[in-house]
Amino acid sequence: MTYPVKSYAAFSATTDLEPHSFERRELREDDVLIDILYCGVCHSDLHTARNDWGFTHTYPIVPGHEIIGRVTKVGSKANKFQIGDLVGVGCMVDSCRTCSPCQHGLEQYCEHGHIGTYGSNDRFDGSLTQGGYSTGVVVSEDFVLKVSEKLDTKAVAPLLCAGITTYSPLCHWNVQKGSKVGVIGLGGLGHMAVKLAAAMGAEVTLFTRSAGKSNDAFRLGASRVVLSTDEAQMQEVANTFDVIIDTVPYTHDLKPYIPTLALDGTLVLVGLVGELEQTINTVPMIMGRRSIAASVIGGIKETQEMLDFCAEHNIVPDVEMIDMQNINNAYERMLKSDVKYRFVIDMASLKA
Ligand SMILES: [Zn+2]
Ligand SMILES: [Zn+2]
Repeated sequence: MTYPVKSYAAFSATTDLEPHSFERRELREDDVLIDILYCGVCHSDLHTARNDWGFTHTYPIVPGHEIIGRVTKVGSKANKFQIGDLVGVGCMVDSCRTCSPCQHGLEQYCEHGHIGTYGSNDRFDGSLTQGGYSTGVVVSEDFVLKVSEKLDTKAVAPLLCAGITTYSPLCHWNVQKGSKVGVIGLGGLGHMAVKLAAAMGAEVTLFTRSAGKSNDAFRLGASRVVLSTDEAQMQEVANTFDVIIDTVPYTHDLKPYIPTLALDGTLVLVGLVGELEQTINTVPMIMGRRSIAASVIGGIKETQEMLDFCAEHNIVPDVEMIDMQNINNAYERMLKSDVKYRFVIDMASLKA
């Protein structure tokens, strides 16, 4: 028995998202069926719908990989969840499960490529995976997360991508009480990086090009704001940061930031899929054993840890709720950074 769902899908790279009805697969023995309550809107959704990265080969495609919902059915051998459980699904729905990264809880770095929540081919039947702008989804229980009932449920959704994308590098590079963390950019990812690093006890500095972001940065947990276009301000923070989380999603120049790293400091790129602007001179890296690194989301185990951390510290993204029917307008606003700080779709609007 398959499961009919309503959704919004892109039918080509150049047209608006439109309503689309299709069937979710019959439950395999380890699957759960999830009734979707909310889905966050990520920049990747828009880039995939419009084929900005050249990865989108098949249409229609249903975006959405910040999914919150309740389990409504479980497969014959699925035993991690009960009907009614509040759960989440993030950017991955499967991986090979046998390579070294998979065996170490790093499914996002699966040597065979993780199976994305949308736009990937299912490992068993080859069908195109379809995302969370939809009334329901079928996912292997091993890629489903438990979500605390304590948090504001509608605001939890963006933790599944924006949250884990910033939490994972903060953990990997050992951010803890007293660490000095820089965050470049205050969008969906950046505002989560500020909140999470502050909750870990770090001293957080926001780098921004617009002074207008200062009040928000302080409210979210930053203790300092540096205008990245002001050389004197950049000079004042030379040799400061243990970790910089760079959330800028477009091509930009890293050179001004490298000297602000402390000895052994690391700048981690999490927002840019593409080329850096100019060649990087190694001298500031050599003279400080500094690193430039990059990171993508987090593994399933770590994503669960992040959700538990957020429940413990009462952290959720700042969200703006929208109806499914307003998604195309939301994309236009997102392109202008006109959102504080993440859109979340109330899926009741699609069920009505
Ligand atoms: Zn995303
Ligand atoms: Zn693997």
